[in-house]
Amino acid sequence: MSANTFPAQIEPFKWAEQGFTWSGTLPLSRFVRISREAVGSIDDQLIRIDCKLSMDAYHRIVWLDGSVEAKVPMECQRCLNPVEITLNSDFHLALVDDESLVERLDEDADFIVLGESEATIKGDMDTPASVNLLSLIEDELLLLMPLSPKHDVCEHKHQPAVEAVMENKRDNPFEVLASLKGKLN
Ligand SMILES: [Zn+2]
Repeated sequence: MSANTFPAQIEPFKWAEQGFTWSGTLPLSRFVRISREAVGSIDDQLIRIDCKLSMDAYHRIVWLDGSVEAKVPMECQRCLNPVEITLNSDFHLALVDDESLVERLDEDADFIVLGESEATIKGDMDTPASVNLLSLIEDELLLLMPLSPKHDVCEHKHQPAVEAVMENKRDNPFEVLASLKGKLN
């Protein structure tokens, strides 16, 4: 394992005390849920991640700060050609192991209660609290994914109209019958 390997699972309280930071790139394919929405090859697509953990020991809060950027080729809902969507998130997330601690945060602070999202496990006597950092960061990006991705300006504006007409012909058996009938007569 190289020093820059992205950790699969982190123990937020322990790692925050040790001043964990990570900067680098990972293949987009590591974000499985986002990759599912991509079209074409994503082999060359990279995610850029910067993150760090810090500890607010007095308030029993771990702060996850950082930024993530990914470019995802998606299908333009207007012309059906690929469109590269840039997802960019700066996050400042409080990780708390107990919901009651949320009261100590500013009203507009983003927070994750460990154990409440799939990416996190609340610890107990035997197992320390842990966070799937990649999954947590992917959650942040998923919130930004457009439901209807589009080019700002489509290059082949007329294509969908043509395709729609062809689609109708294919789907209308009576039209095919009618044209056959015409030929027989
Ligand atoms: Zn388009």
